[in-house]
Amino acid sequence: MIRIAIQAKGRLNEDSMALLADAGIDVTASKRKLVAQATGFPLEVLYLRDDDIPQAVAMGVADVGIVGLNEVAERRQDVRVVMPLGFGACRISLAVPRDAGYGGLDWFNGKRVATSYPHVLHDFFTQHGVKAEIHEIAGSVEIAPAVGLADAIFDIVSSGGTLVQNGLVEVERVFHSEAALIAHPQLAPEKQADLDKLQFRFSSIVESRGMKYVLMNIPKQKVAEAVALIPGMRSPTVLPLADEGWCSLHVVIREAELWEKIEQLKALGAEGILVLALENMIR
Ligand code: ATP
Ligand code: MG
Repeated sequence: MIRIAIQAKGRLNEDSMALLADAGIDVTASKRKLVAQATGFPLEVLYLRDDDIPQAVAMGVADVGIVGLNEVAERRQDVRVVMPLGFGACRISLAVPRDAGYGGLDWFNGKRVATSYPHVLHDFFTQHGVKAEIHEIAGSVEIAPAVGLADAIFDIVSSGGTLVQNGLVEVERVFHSEAALIAHPQLAPEKQADLDKLQFRFSSIVESRGMKYVLMNIPKQKVAEAVALIPGMRSPTVLPLADEGWCSLHVVIREAELWEKIEQLKALGAEGILVLALENMIR
């Protein structure tokens, strides 16, 4: 039995729950409870604020957790990052007022920078020899320059809309983050075994997301060329058709390049192309 800490509510909650569900883990109890028992896996779910997850895992209150790498970097807790999970992408960036005349990192010398990520920022400034004052504030960082609390900010950006609304421009992208599975540094062997199983399930899901299963009929003499278009595949499935000169080819293609590949396959003579959702890919 292991205990996983996930965000109780907020940006990571839904995707964390969806990942558990896709892994065949059902968490039935109401979210109002702090701890819920799962079915389909020997797992207990502990709902916390994301800020508290690294510490809970470091202390062993939870054995593993799902939290943004931004929080992992800032909290300085002794935890292992087991795997990135492919959701909750964002970055922590330096932003300055639009009319600040920013010309490079030198600009920050002697300036006051407001942030909720003082450790990450301190490391970045130290690395680049910048001497600035770091003001830690808990929330609404983006309004700090407008109200005279700071000259610049260091904050989470995903689309950049909030910055524009506050008259700021993103000038340095410092830390790239996504949600990750983290674990206590030293788990008892039976807990580690559960974690290995959980990691196996999560890996299959994360890998198969964004992939499509594509079937097509293709002239036999074009199969080698078609396979060369889809790198990373060890052995494609090729099935004979009643018509001797043709066969059926099955491949897995990344969604991002699906249409480009389909056009290339069509150009090779592929016909009757079927694109199917790929639920899971077990390596
Ligand atoms: P909590 O109540 O759990 O402390 P919170 O308000 O600190 O929640 P959320 O805004 O729900 O946190 O964000 C949780 C995580 O989602 C962030 O730490 C980050 O890893 C990720 N994230 C992704 N995109 C964004 C974004 N645009 N703004 C903030 N966080 C984002
Ligand atoms: Mg938080």
